[in-house]
Amino acid sequence: MSNAPIIGHHINGQVQDASERFSDVFNPATGEVQARVALAELRTVDQAVAAAQAAFPAWADQSSLRRARVMFKFKELLDQHHDELAQIICREHGKVFSDAKGEVVRGIEIVEFACGAPSLLKSDYSDNIGGGIDNWNLRQPLGVCAGVTPFNFPVMVPLWMIPMALVTGNCFILKPSERDPSASLLMARLLKQAGLPDGVFNVVQGDKVAVDALLQHKGIEAISFVGSTPIAEYIHQQGTAHGKRVQALGGAKNHMIVMPDADLDQAADALIGAAYGSAGERCMAISIAVVVGDVGQKLIDKLLPRIDSLKVGNGMNTDSDMGPLVTAVHKAKVEGYIDQGVKEGARLIVDGRNFTVPGAEKGFFVGATLFDEVTPEMTVYKEEIFGPVLGIVHVPDFASAVELINAHEFGNGVSCFTSDGGIARAFARNIKVGMVGINVPIPVPMAWHSFGGWKRSLFGDHHAYGEEGLRFYSRYKSVMQRWPDSIAKGAEFNMPTAK
Ligand code: NAD
Repeated sequence: MSNAPIIGHHINGQVQDASERFSDVFNPATGEVQARVALAELRTVDQAVAAAQAAFPAWADQSSLRRARVMFKFKELLDQHHDELAQIICREHGKVFSDAKGEVVRGIEIVEFACGAPSLLKSDYSDNIGGGIDNWNLRQPLGVCAGVTPFNFPVMVPLWMIPMALVTGNCFILKPSERDPSASLLMARLLKQAGLPDGVFNVVQGDKVAVDALLQHKGIEAISFVGSTPIAEYIHQQGTAHGKRVQALGGAKNHMIVMPDADLDQAADALIGAAYGSAGERCMAISIAVVVGDVGQKLIDKLLPRIDSLKVGNGMNTDSDMGPLVTAVHKAKVEGYIDQGVKEGARLIVDGRNFTVPGAEKGFFVGATLFDEVTPEMTVYKEEIFGPVLGIVHVPDFASAVELINAHEFGNGVSCFTSDGGIARAFARNIKVGMVGINVPIPVPMAWHSFGGWKRSLFGDHHAYGEEGLRFYSRYKSVMQRWPDSIAKGAEFNMPTAK
């Protein structure tokens, strides 16, 4: 479709859409190509880095209060454009409008947190550590930082990075997912409107070519990545090999334990939302229910009518609970996993394959799918499916549930439904997962906490946003000062100690 609109880059305050390569952007609800996104070459990345490097000294030199004021204005503009952003998400990602609005809210919360930059960047000061010397610390910007983001949260995940990087005094280059790239350009426009100087924030659209150019570029100090585990691992290896600070958040396989003492209606409601919300395309989606003791059939009896009443359709329709998957390729992949589950002996209770929505037959829909009798050796247990597929694993007791989850290669999110405080406490303390929910199915931390998994769900030392984000985007410096009237005469050859 050659006359489809072009989605370009945003470099030094200007949109650029000339390119040699383009990629199709679909409307997942209709299956149509609605735009083409420019794919950056090396020189596009060079231009963005040069613009950011030129803008860096003045931006880094601004007071943190002035930088925070840009964030205040940005937040106001995000509020004003809340519906527009959510519509863009619906059109390119496919999730339902109310869910897209929720995504924008969770992104705005990080901007609100970043508005506290002057207080967050306040340092520690030790008066007179001895001999008239004072010691304090600074947190200084790194320079030009880059972010590479996934398709499933085209507003929220970039906002995990952008406000934190900017208020700490860095310049930033975002490489959004090529599958839903438009929201990045609206955010760039709003940042400019909020008073951000040109070059401080840039968007480079693209694929592996752009990402590799960022990873290898000498002008980039740090890379934040969010996406699948194989790419996260690659980014971490390449980025650190090129001397960069890297945080790379990867994939997930999130379990929810249902204990015999849990309220099963609450557990079933939680599972339906957490497994099928956003068509399962969430890194915090629950994809495995671990049923303890005799809970299994009782829970299935509660899940089936709820699955039956799920409304699947175009995300722009206000009564849809679940939209399509992002692309036809992804739909085929998810259906392939369902085929594999059947082949490996899982009991398919609800089959979402060959699902069509009347009037939108070409949309990339997969219906809610439920497997029982999933075992740890099966592909549908081991691998991230990233679709509306929930598997049930039976275990005899709580200890076996914890052992099962701790043995999984991923450790992003986890949940336990129980009414026993002792079980809840043991769960929180012993589970080897980064984000833990007790009777909370999707425990996404608030902006002033930090987001991240354990094991092969995160490569690097820092979680995203909150205090961890602040540390990631700043360099620690310790300063000692003394003035001539306290300096003793003569050289000292011993290790200095407090006197
Ligand atoms: P993806 O890994 O395919 O793509 C993520 C980004 O990497 C995109 O910008 C893409 O252009 C780029 N990329 C893709 N292939 C690349 C390659 N070979 N070399 C360099 N860059 C490449 O992920 P996705 O499909 O967009 O998103 C879904 C994945 O993201 C899931 O695995 C999900 O669990 C994960 N995710 C994780 C979190 C988290 O916080 N841990 C949050 C959201 C999504």
